Amino acid sequence: MNTLNAIATNPSAVNGSPKVLPQLTPINDPWDPIRSIQKFGKHQLTSVEMTISNLCNMRCEHCAVGDTLVMSEPAKLPLKDMLKRLDEVEHLQTISITGGEPSYSAKTVKEYMLPLLQYARDRGVRSQINSNVTLPFSRYEAIIPYLDVMHISFNYTNADDFHQVGFAKAGHHVSYEASVKLYERMIENAHLLSKAGVLVSAESMINFRTHDKIDEIHRLIVEMGCERHEVHPMYPSSFAKDLPVITRLQMRQAIERLLDNRDPSVWMLFGTLPFYQCSNHAEERALLSRLAAEPNVTVRNDPDGRNRLNVNLFTGEVFVTDFSDVPSFGNIATSKLDDLFTKWLEHPLAQDINCYCPAASCCGPNLLVKDMYYKEVDFHQRTARFD
Ligand code: SF4
Repeated sequence: MNTLNAIATNPSAVNGSPKVLPQLTPINDPWDPIRSIQKFGKHQLTSVEMTISNLCNMRCEHCAVGDTLVMSEPAKLPLKDMLKRLDEVEHLQTISITGGEPSYSAKTVKEYMLPLLQYARDRGVRSQINSNVTLPFSRYEAIIPYLDVMHISFNYTNADDFHQVGFAKAGHHVSYEASVKLYERMIENAHLLSKAGVLVSAESMINFRTHDKIDEIHRLIVEMGCERHEVHPMYPSSFAKDLPVITRLQMRQAIERLLDNRDPSVWMLFGTLPFYQCSNHAEERALLSRLAAEPNVTVRNDPDGRNRLNVNLFTGEVFVTDFSDVPSFGNIATSKLDDLFTKWLEHPLAQDINCYCPAASCCGPNLLVKDMYYKEVDFHQRTARFD
């Protein structure tokens, strides 16, 4: 029996010593699509994200998938079907597991999350889980030996913020005391996971609430023992579409405040920025130059549809991201993921953002960003400018 079959039939089959893989660092970020375009000369599927839960114990106001959350969920596809499709991805380098809260159900952790992580580790593929880490630590213990990155959201300066933001869409009263318990557990779990050798990457969004206190949020993230602080501007997805939008100037100022006050020993990863080296605005180009020159700071190109696809484990439907308005363009029941990726690259939306300036290590805007700020811009007519 090969490893794939062994894992599918017995999730605990691969429990020998996990492979030792090169450390994830600012110069080794396999989630960045720039690596595949540099290596293959074209976008290549190297990353697969899987949605394995529509359940969550929180209802954050900014949640990108908030409108898909449910109180009880249907059965998922057999694990072996997903493993088979992963096995066919020729250049797979990373997997991400997302939800909802993917660890909400202990059964899902045991029967899906753990074997998927074991498969990844056995193949030398890097892994990430997107979790709020507010559940008891025992929920995470079994996956620690196989997990590379625990990605959490952190947009708070204290427990009051957490209560206000984390249950904004609960639809019922959540007591302050119950919320504080979760907040404290999240902090404790982040500490414990870091101590156990998992790269805990805390993501903050720059939005109307956080833009003027993002440096304070950073300080708490450092205190929590996180090795990486990930920062993304918030864009209005369907569930969060009513939240106020901040200007590009406010975003730039928030990033500058962060750079001025950050702890330089912590890796700062910026993503989905609305600034490009082809900008007509000298201040935006100057900010990008500063970001490129700062030690321990990286700007990740947007992976959605560039090197990554999302698979919904309940339906098998394949999407460009878990929260995109772009409809599914295939199903793993009938298609290989590499074939679906080739099909996506031919889509007019993919063509629209498919520019590449090697001198700027930039491979174009995110779909939401293009739609929000650059609707009329033809990026194929632009090129990186250096002052
Ligand atoms: S790759 Fe596209 S977005 Fe990036 S600098 Fe070049 S033209 Fe602008």
